[in-house]
Amino acid sequence: MSNIKKHFLHSRYQVFEESGKPFQFVEKDVFLDVKPGEVVVKILQATICGSDLHTIEGKRIENVPCILGHEAVGEIVEISGRKGFAVGDRITWTIADSCGHCPACIEYGLPEKCSELFKYGHASLASGTGLNGCYASHLFIRKGTHIVKIPNAVTNGIAAPANCALATMVNAIAQLKSKPRRVLIQGGGLLGIYGCGMLKEMGVPQIFCSEVNEGRFDLIRSFGAIPVDTRNSENAANLILEQTSEGVDAIFEVAGVKELIPQGLKLLRPGGEYILAGLVHPDSQLNITAEQIIRKCISIKGVHNYAPWHLDKAVAFLERNISVFPFEDLVSPPYKLDNLQEAVSEARKHNWMRVSIKP
Ligand SMILES: [Zn+2]
Ligand SMILES: [Zn+2]
Repeated sequence: MSNIKKHFLHSRYQVFEESGKPFQFVEKDVFLDVKPGEVVVKILQATICGSDLHTIEGKRIENVPCILGHEAVGEIVEISGRKGFAVGDRITWTIADSCGHCPACIEYGLPEKCSELFKYGHASLASGTGLNGCYASHLFIRKGTHIVKIPNAVTNGIAAPANCALATMVNAIAQLKSKPRRVLIQGGGLLGIYGCGMLKEMGVPQIFCSEVNEGRFDLIRSFGAIPVDTRNSENAANLILEQTSEGVDAIFEVAGVKELIPQGLKLLRPGGEYILAGLVHPDSQLNITAEQIIRKCISIKGVHNYAPWHLDKAVAFLERNISVFPFEDLVSPPYKLDNLQEAVSEARKHNWMRVSIKP
């Protein structure tokens, strides 16, 4: 068939087998059939997401052996049948590949919950071409994956976390039913920091970001929010209540700490919105009552990953604000792919919002 392109490449990648075992570095010649809708990218820069660390630490189980890594930016080296894109384009892609015809894809507006869902950086080497993760020289992009061009002004390091952390936060903020005046973001990790910047851009006058790590306060400030030290949770709550009288209009939970939810309920004004995005793990039993939810007439909404249109908005946000917020301070200088183990050790120290890798 003439519309199948043949592509040869020399791939290099790091294989994850199990927690506690070092990565296996592999070099392999690969012959690919690139069918309409499919794209091959050379990875320009990738970042280590918290979920990768969870897998490496054994807190999350993947289909192994696999290539981890899903936050990245790449350059197209082969492409078939995608309008407006060409070899040489710098792109990012949705972490999920969706079928486009199941109820989640067409009825629920949740392609990220597709019944045939595939996620980059979470699939075994046995799936498809095997080039499914970003701790590698190349990635094979499937036809149900949305791709987005990276504007010239946005560097590789700044763009790399867009397709996980940033797009997820775009989705979380898109859940707001009305424009808030006072917001609390629980957690000053990368999602929280992006959230501060997005709410600032929206013109939200009071943005609080609660965090236990003092080292992150300056960054929180530089993304337009007021850092709230939660090492003493009582003081933190009083400080927010003093400044907002009835409480905040909306809270974003991006810390992954279940104890923050009962505190948050006290800080939410009647009719407020609570958006949960960080507690994606089994240790998330909440000590709250239905009565608290009912009497305060609040909404609670869960957000997991995102849809293609959120990634478009994420990239546009970076372009608009490239000289407004110090995005370059979020990502470490790149480690070589050969030194992935070292990069992972650095990521576990949490000196950076993201540690990056350059194949
Ligand atoms: Zn991620
Ligand atoms: Zn589907």
